[in-house]
Amino acid sequence: MECQVCEKTAVISTSNGTFCSEHFKDNFERTTLDTIKKYNLIREGEVIGVANSGGKDSLSLLYIISKHFSKTNRIISITIDEGIKGYRDKTIETMKKYCSEWGVKYKIYSYKDFAGLGMDSIVKVQKGIPCAACGVLRRHLLNAGALESGVNKLCTAHNMDDEAESVLMNVFQNDFEKLVRSGPVSGISSNDGFIPRVKPFIFISEKETMLFSILNGIEALHTACPYSGFGFRGIMARRVKQLETKIPGSKKRLVKAAIRIRVLGSGSTAGRLVKCLMCGSPTPEDVCEACRIKERLSGVIET
Ligand code: SF4
Ligand SMILES: [Zn+2]
Ligand SMILES: [Zn+2]
Repeated sequence: MECQVCEKTAVISTSNGTFCSEHFKDNFERTTLDTIKKYNLIREGEVIGVANSGGKDSLSLLYIISKHFSKTNRIISITIDEGIKGYRDKTIETMKKYCSEWGVKYKIYSYKDFAGLGMDSIVKVQKGIPCAACGVLRRHLLNAGALESGVNKLCTAHNMDDEAESVLMNVFQNDFEKLVRSGPVSGISSNDGFIPRVKPFIFISEKETMLFSILNGIEALHTACPYSGFGFRGIMARRVKQLETKIPGSKKRLVKAAIRIRVLGSGSTAGRLVKCLMCGSPTPEDVCEACRIKERLSGVIET
């Protein structure tokens, strides 16, 4: 199999074509920059936060954002420390190494500082699937951290697989409110308390991000969180992979369908938010889910 641009041996076949390593890297960066331009994800002069777990996806994103926007924008890496020993502590070390190499300032916000406990303790006292509470706390702290850091846009490394899974989850859970908040710019962009989250990798697959990080020599931990794979997202992730194998192009069509739904639902009242009575964050209820979790955990002693 030959690269479609030069005659070298191809290393990957993507929905954009078949490429050697050099032309794959070019195409990957171009697809990312085209998405940023088409959906107006970054404007000159804005302070750009990059949600950075220290994994391959977010490091690949930080690499591209710092390479192409550091002259026109201030860039801050924002990491959430969930308190997962043997996993997040290691990826935080990797995050620090690359931030220093690429000259990017970083900030870390932890569950322990916010709720008094990290995930390793929360899983012992909280019933249910770990990811449910973890996801709520991470989104809350990312937004709060971005606000505190003066960020105008928060880039996340959500790829096409993640987005397709989310679309299916929202459809099966009949959660139209979340569905109309998805797409390349997620959340409510016109709310003072909410920093818009933008997804430059929304048209790039997980396989491509993995290869991009390897080809650029980004040495990220490839092990998964010990609490991952449970619950609805794990089921949807397997379904999305099966769908893509049987009907190639399904992931991209799901992502594009969500973008159309967002446009069609833009006049609806679904997804309207009010200020949390306790922390002031945008929430559909009087008190946001992160404050409810914090309340439930208050008084629990870490073991
Ligand atoms: S896999 Fe679940 S528990 Fe682990 S970091 Fe992600 S959301 Fe949290
Ligand atoms: Zn080539
Ligand atoms: Zn709150």
